[in-house]
Amino acid sequence: MTETGSEGPSGARAPDGRYYLFSGIQPSGEIHIGNYCGAIRNWVRQLDNYACIFCIVDYHAITADYDAKEMQARILKAAIVNIAAGLSPERCRLFVQSRVPEHTELAWIFNTLTPMGLLSRMTQFKEKAVRQEENVTVGLFDYPVLQAADILLYRAVAVPVGEDQVQHIELTRDVARKFNNRFGDYFPEPKARVPREGARILGLDAQAKMSKSLNNYVGLLEEPGVIWEKLRPAVTDPARQRRSDPGNPDICNIYTIHQCFSPPEILAWSDHGCRTAGIGCIDCKKALFGEMMKELDPIRERARELEGQTRRVTEFLEASARDCKALAEATMDDVRRLTGIR
Ligand code: SF4
Repeated sequence: MTETGSEGPSGARAPDGRYYLFSGIQPSGEIHIGNYCGAIRNWVRQLDNYACIFCIVDYHAITADYDAKEMQARILKAAIVNIAAGLSPERCRLFVQSRVPEHTELAWIFNTLTPMGLLSRMTQFKEKAVRQEENVTVGLFDYPVLQAADILLYRAVAVPVGEDQVQHIELTRDVARKFNNRFGDYFPEPKARVPREGARILGLDAQAKMSKSLNNYVGLLEEPGVIWEKLRPAVTDPARQRRSDPGNPDICNIYTIHQCFSPPEILAWSDHGCRTAGIGCIDCKKALFGEMMKELDPIRERARELEGQTRRVTEFLEASARDCKALAEATMDDVRRLTGIR
């Protein structure tokens, strides 16, 4: 995991002394192994190090086109898959953003401090604006300010994100600094924690980032037979036209996926076998498939169980929301006092 950023005032601490870590989760149940290796698995590894808060960001999700009738099902699905993948109720908080309205209240205060010029430089906004053309809303433009509010509401110091979100965390630090300069030191400047492994996984076409819309993905909860049918024809090093052609695992996306799932001895076998043409790509994929299933089978089984226990899932979300609301109210009391609006 690489880190960027610098410390400002110290962050808040949970009663057990740990600092807070915050991350947002899009309300989508269609999570693929790229999301899992690049995000969820790294969150799970941080559960003992930080007091972790994970937020299903429905206010963010509505900045894109969506079907209102499907939103609650999407939220539930996102909760189930993330709990099944390791965000267990005993070890973290997982709640729905709109259950804690202080997120939008703090975003409004931050709006009054954030220059338009800063927001207009956000790469993700520019990319989304090009795609949405006529439907570029204020909400889409303001997305990173709400994100800053999400994080700073809990005065979190650590924010695990992908490379594409680092710019937003830099903006969060800018916003924290602007607030502190104007109203007195209060918010920490959180650090982006960017995982090394998993960040480079491409889709099975080895052309673009893994994504459902490009249909080049392996779903986290897909059945083993479906996964194998996707892995078998997946693109490898193009130099391996025949089994006797040596290849280079460093440029093979299948090997990148291996690095997320396989132990060192399998990686060494694959690397050596590829370079010497001692193994074929199908041998290599079969080994990968076996290692993937060791990790994904229990997740799929837990998710199926949770699908039959939606009340338990909802209770966890609500209990987490109550805890987070108490933290958020304490922050907003301070913020209102510091800004003179109470
Ligand atoms: S042997 Fe494995 S690492 Fe080498 S090109 Fe084939 S799939 Fe990729």
